Amino acid sequence: MAHDLTEDEEELVSYAREKIVEHAQKRWEEGLYDVLYAFVLSDNGGIYAGKPFESNQPSFNVCAERHAINQMQYEESEQATVEAILVAGPVPDEDHPETMPCGACRHAINEFGDKDTTVIVSSFVRERKGEWTMFPKIRVFTARELYPESYKPVEWD
Ligand SMILES: [Zn+2]
Repeated sequence: MAHDLTEDEEELVSYAREKIVEHAQKRWEEGLYDVLYAFVLSDNGGIYAGKPFESNQPSFNVCAERHAINQMQYEESEQATVEAILVAGPVPDEDHPETMPCGACRHAINEFGDKDTTVIVSSFVRERKGEWTMFPKIRVFTARELYPESYKPVEWD
């Protein structure tokens, strides 16, 4: 958690901050609630956004993190690597703990990342009509810290 952000990661954070406000504003104007967002930075420098896919059949739902990773694979390919992923969800107040990636997403981040992949976790608070406090705290992990001793299928010769 004592990781400093690299220049690329700083850029990812500012990009996400701006895009989330824009998107949350649009949703607010449509009378919709805030959702969690994920932004992937690929090893090629591309940035891909994801929001949760929510269905009235909850077992079909897909988290924002996996949506963003799939966007990276669609725009680049399955060869692309997650260099960093920012995850920011809505919380009721600035002191509320951030929403951490779920187990399935930790697996996907690990599988499509590498040993240096970072996971940047933050939150945002809706203050009043169309205004949000963005990223009151930012926590940085490595993918390995969030998913140690990861699952890997056995490889046979
Ligand atoms: Zn998830």
